[in-house]
Amino acid sequence: MSLITNGPKVALLGLILESNRFARPAQQKDFLSLTCLRAKSLIDEANSSNPSLAIEFASFVKTMNASGDWDPCPIILMASRPLGPIQKDVFEAYCAEVVANLPEDIDAVYLCHHGAMVAEHIDDADGYIAREIRKKVGPKVPIVMTLDLHANVSDELCASVDLVCGYRTNPHVDQFDRGQEAAFALRQILAGLAKPKIVHIKLPLAPSSITLLTASGPLGQVIDYGQRRQAELGGEIMNVSIFGNFIFSDVPQNGVSIVVTARSNFNIAKNLAEEIAELTWIKRSLFVRDLTSFDSAIKIAQDQNREPVIFADSGDNPGGGGTGRTTQLLIELIKADAKGVMYGSFFDPKLAEEAKGLVVGSRFKAAFNRESNQQKWEEYDEPFTADAEVISLHDGQVVGRLGIFSGRKMSLGNCALLKIGDIKVVVISERSQTADPIFFEMFGQNIASAHTVIVKSRGHFRAGFKTWFDDKDVYEIDTVGLTSPVLERWDFRNVPASSFPFDKDAAWSI
Ligand SMILES: [Zn+2]
Repeated sequence: MSLITNGPKVALLGLILESNRFARPAQQKDFLSLTCLRAKSLIDEANSSNPSLAIEFASFVKTMNASGDWDPCPIILMASRPLGPIQKDVFEAYCAEVVANLPEDIDAVYLCHHGAMVAEHIDDADGYIAREIRKKVGPKVPIVMTLDLHANVSDELCASVDLVCGYRTNPHVDQFDRGQEAAFALRQILAGLAKPKIVHIKLPLAPSSITLLTASGPLGQVIDYGQRRQAELGGEIMNVSIFGNFIFSDVPQNGVSIVVTARSNFNIAKNLAEEIAELTWIKRSLFVRDLTSFDSAIKIAQDQNREPVIFADSGDNPGGGGTGRTTQLLIELIKADAKGVMYGSFFDPKLAEEAKGLVVGSRFKAAFNRESNQQKWEEYDEPFTADAEVISLHDGQVVGRLGIFSGRKMSLGNCALLKIGDIKVVVISERSQTADPIFFEMFGQNIASAHTVIVKSRGHFRAGFKTWFDDKDVYEIDTVGLTSPVLERWDFRNVPASSFPFDKDAAWSI
């Protein structure tokens, strides 16, 4: 037995993926291109000033550093940008690696997940991993887990961990706070100040992503309510997390989840979870929202006598598994000869590479989507060409400036700013949602100079662009693509059919 103690030994690991059932499967290369870090390189990246990995992971590590002694045991963190189900062999290799590398003498585990991961062979991939970790470490070792607000939470997951800590904002600007909260909670558990009891209630309410903003709307209201009640209960409750679900995962565990963790008293958690669930259910009709029609959007874009506005290309959000290369909006804007448009960002490595080989100021026939090869998820990625000018080039190494990517190092690969008519088009080589003005600013562009900004993002752009655009200036456009929020368009096979709004007469009671 060692005479020197370095504090609790805490295993750090996670597999982060938001799976859209209709998108291309996530492969090993998709994790390698975003986050795949092990051992010392993982802890070093977490401790760096602008980490490239999940902000809550870095925050958890930094909070543990600042709150006392500990012995970090970094195992692996893998993250992909949102895509389809993770391939079976990649998932199995990850599970085998973490189980093999979890030391016998571990004191606690931190799991950093998104929570809406599907594997090719397992619907509840996050719950499966949580259970495997629990099996390995036994019933007494505390496991704390952070999750995205869009997690599809299951009973199995909640039964396998001691604390679930979900984001409370959408756009997700509280990732740092949640990592911090998970670390402080773990400190309390390790100090014997809490023996957490988790209660999970799943509602038959499976809303579309556009109804889940938190600055206004029903989800924000119930989250605020939960926080108020937690404060009123004076420390008896450790955490209240309300998950909106990610509808495109198309899994049996789709649906809003209320997860309440009590310090030790199960009944207090149960009563509060039921109270929040009833309030959420009463508000269910508010979880429906309309988009701006495509034709209206083109007319608005052509109107030169209005204030500047921002459009969300709702159908093609790479942050929800969209390809980032649908053409519907861009082609129609070119045809309409729209003026003063900044459009970002089109994912097209071949086009960016070609532009890189040209001199700034030169003109060429820009061929979009030459790589599209008719897979079912590329249905809307139409190849087309347009006369373009190369305005600027960039290596794509940036640090996020505002909103969800703020302070986070990002690699966007070769990037080019092209001009087609009076439309400036950002082309990137790593598929990413345009949630930060840096996508335009890296080329020296000023957002304030645009008449219309168009982003391939569903909702997170609101936090990045609020300096220039209030809610009244935001238009969510009904475009085609893998993230179209019009639920009737999708052939969901696994979302419980008895859920609202699929079943308008859906019933639920405690
Ligand atoms: Zn999310």
